[in-house]
Amino acid sequence: MEGSRGTKVEERLIGTVVGPDGGPVLICVAGIHGNEPAGVHAVRRVLVALEEHRDELEGSFVALAGNIAALEAGRRFVDRDLNRAWTRDRLERLRGNGAAGASVEDLEQVELLEELEGVLRDAGGPVFALDLHTTSGPGGIFSAFTDSLPHRAFAGDFPVPMIFGLEELVDGTLLNLLSENGVVALTVETGQHEEPAAIDRAEAAIWIAIVSAGLLPERLVPEATEARKLLRRDAGHLPRALEMRYKRDVVDGDGFVMQPGYLNFQSVRAGDRIARDAQGDVIVYEDGRLLMPLYQEQGEDGFFLVREFPQFWMGVSHVMRRMGLSRLAFWLPGVKRVEDSDDEVVINKRVERFFARQLFHLLGFRQLEDAGSSLLMRRRRFDEGRYLKHPPAPMSLETPPGSD
Ligand SMILES: [Zn+2]
Repeated sequence: MEGSRGTKVEERLIGTVVGPDGGPVLICVAGIHGNEPAGVHAVRRVLVALEEHRDELEGSFVALAGNIAALEAGRRFVDRDLNRAWTRDRLERLRGNGAAGASVEDLEQVELLEELEGVLRDAGGPVFALDLHTTSGPGGIFSAFTDSLPHRAFAGDFPVPMIFGLEELVDGTLLNLLSENGVVALTVETGQHEEPAAIDRAEAAIWIAIVSAGLLPERLVPEATEARKLLRRDAGHLPRALEMRYKRDVVDGDGFVMQPGYLNFQSVRAGDRIARDAQGDVIVYEDGRLLMPLYQEQGEDGFFLVREFPQFWMGVSHVMRRMGLSRLAFWLPGVKRVEDSDDEVVINKRVERFFARQLFHLLGFRQLEDAGSSLLMRRRRFDEGRYLKHPPAPMSLETPPGSD
């Protein structure tokens, strides 16, 4: 029985430690996928240790449970994936229903949303967030984030591979909603669901985040120094940065089954047969590395392909954005600003054929749609040098894009 492996969580708010004066807030969301309890165990450990530091704590630490019903059942979700429906439309509808919706996850989402809104409303400083996950296959230690300057700087403090562009392939994540509303948020994947080391690594990530968000100075938390060593030891052999290239969707009834034995970050070549579905062999279309191969029953993503992103280009992109060059992008040939929008462009691929997507990624745009002959891309919010010095102020999760 899967349920027998479940994790009991009594309250949405697993715990909080509030320092004597205001300051930044660090939110940890644990177990938004119910078969990923490592984060829950990790936040409990940190809450205990952090009590010792209450008087020195600048700001506050908040640990929230993601999907309580699914955690208890030991399943990714009960009715629907709780990490795929954090879009404004969906939240509006949920609020309208007063959580009277039919699904278990409607109720989970409304509760979690209210808890998050409360934290953002009361925050007296910048808000940081860690979204803690594990993978069904082994070796999945990495971070993912929306690539604007403050988010990238936060991610840079964690010595694990940084994955760019997840939000272009996966819609409706909590990470994306938080990031668009002024929260400096990071998803961390800390290993395989069942391995005890995944808890240690999640704990390590939290200690690093505590220092990075400014809740405690590193000299008071030797845990953070140890945490860097631990993550470097476990992930140091992997590339520092990789970009998303492809996602294989899994739809009910398409019979997708991964071949056994694939690891996260394993190199694959074009032509490799790595899975099967109802049509036959599933073949990789370009060289790259595999990420999150699906080795569990529930889940809509069969596997991802990523490719190493040279650090040189990360540096170039950093400089271009700090110089404000993304504003010039609107004047490039073949680029048209979307009417009534300050940050969306349509790019004619025939004119900008060779480098459109890459260039606009470097400049901080994300792809919204690929219509074949044109691309719709949007400049990410908060992608400005000034937010490196002073992280953005959090906004209500109801704030529509473009109103900052
Ligand atoms: Zn997950």
